[in-house]
Amino acid sequence: MRKISTAFMFLFFLPLWLMSQSENVDLSMIYKIKQEGLKNSSIEDLAFRLTDFVGPRLTGSTGNNRGNEWAKKKMEELGFQNVRIEAARDFKNGGWDNLKTYAAMTAPYYVNFACNPVAWTGSTNGSVKGEIVLLDVKAESDLDKYKGKLSGKIVLIPSASTYEVSYEPLASRLTDAQLKDISMATPPSGGRRQNYDLAPTSEQRALRTKISEFLKSEGAVVILNSSGTFNVPRSNGAKYNAGDKEPITELNLPVEDHGRMERLLRHNVPVEMEVEIQNKFFDSPTVYNVIGEIPGTDKLLKNEVVLLGAHIDSWHGGTGAADNASGCIVMMEALRILKNLDVAPRRTIRIALWGGEEQGLNGSRGYVEKYLVDPKTREHKPDFDKFAAYFNMDNGSGKYRGIYIQENEFARPIFEEWLKPFEDMGCSTITIRNTTGTDHLSFDAVGLPGFQFIQDEIEYGRGYHTTMDTFERLVMADLKQNAVITASFVYNAAMRNSKIPGKPVMKPLIKQ
Ligand SMILES: [Zn+2]
Repeated sequence: MRKISTAFMFLFFLPLWLMSQSENVDLSMIYKIKQEGLKNSSIEDLAFRLTDFVGPRLTGSTGNNRGNEWAKKKMEELGFQNVRIEAARDFKNGGWDNLKTYAAMTAPYYVNFACNPVAWTGSTNGSVKGEIVLLDVKAESDLDKYKGKLSGKIVLIPSASTYEVSYEPLASRLTDAQLKDISMATPPSGGRRQNYDLAPTSEQRALRTKISEFLKSEGAVVILNSSGTFNVPRSNGAKYNAGDKEPITELNLPVEDHGRMERLLRHNVPVEMEVEIQNKFFDSPTVYNVIGEIPGTDKLLKNEVVLLGAHIDSWHGGTGAADNASGCIVMMEALRILKNLDVAPRRTIRIALWGGEEQGLNGSRGYVEKYLVDPKTREHKPDFDKFAAYFNMDNGSGKYRGIYIQENEFARPIFEEWLKPFEDMGCSTITIRNTTGTDHLSFDAVGLPGFQFIQDEIEYGRGYHTTMDTFERLVMADLKQNAVITASFVYNAAMRNSKIPGKPVMKPLIKQ
């Protein structure tokens, strides 16, 4: 009788027990992760290596290869397994390195300029010196007046945006009120990045294409654009297909230097410049990812994968520190912590440092196409059902303040429990909102659980894609904390009885 009653009680309470135990976070492991990650961190060394030592990592460049080789070697040193540099996708732009950049105004007086060549544009024929032509074009018909006058000339394209004084602090953290706002299911007000350079409209873009064609046919030798503020040039790349004729040399000058010359020219003061740019185009037809693992140990679950990642490619001006060495070193450090603690995860924990993010999430999309979903038939590949979760970092150096659940309500009760040990680090906000613009979207887009953390802005908006995105932008204390939280999340995901549920599948929504 006594026995029966115990069994009955057990069965009666089992569902409740399972519910309360399902997110039974291993606090002794969280303690160890915090100790290892906060008191024995490798973040500063990893940061130095991937920024100062490796340098800029434009997709397809020599620096990109150097970064991949360094990451592979480091992962091997740290004892990760199945370490490899893996082809992800074809890269249409191909290889490009900047070998020399010099630009100065030589009249009405001498001043040298900080500038950055547009990626995948060509070289000057040695040093080019001459008067600048201001191309004052508001419509295609305005081009007529420049016919036959631009051969061999340096041409300045007027700035599309004007500089506005900002009264915002140079660096910032999210306030409690802002976090409260983010946690609500309304669209974010400002987007993920402050827009310091206003994006051109589609008409402006169309006109720019016409202007480029015109300048090419007229034989101009250098094009000067305005991009970046505070005398810090911002980098970008030309639309270019490997094998095409090399585009005319193009330079991005910060609004101050560009604006000075534009104002002089509009006041009819002749302006002369000396420019020497040397760029190298070479064969580099593939985007690569760098991958490593701590293999799973559970007989049934070891083929399931918990993935963590960040993109290793950067723009070529700075050293891609906040965007996105910060994400890469946090992910590497998270796995280093777990490896150092000799964890025996039930599922396999895999790190992926993606290539080609800046040109359209190439690395992570390539991974999805290779392992998870056939890009043509949309059919799931065998690894699809073994995919447990993906965690991404790509919002700069700021500390985690919570997580975006990408409209996946199933993730909320799980992450609530996982975040509890980090509330006193300021990381407790869960938002139903989507965050966009980077590699977790490659997984989210095919219905797999892919997440990014909410991060403090710090100096991200000013610095990303610019020559000031260097080691100095990294807040080491924040990155250490991020590695600890990431290590805990991936460990929890690797130990949990079941995978994090994906969003329910439904018919495509038809816009009314
Ligand atoms: Zn990025």
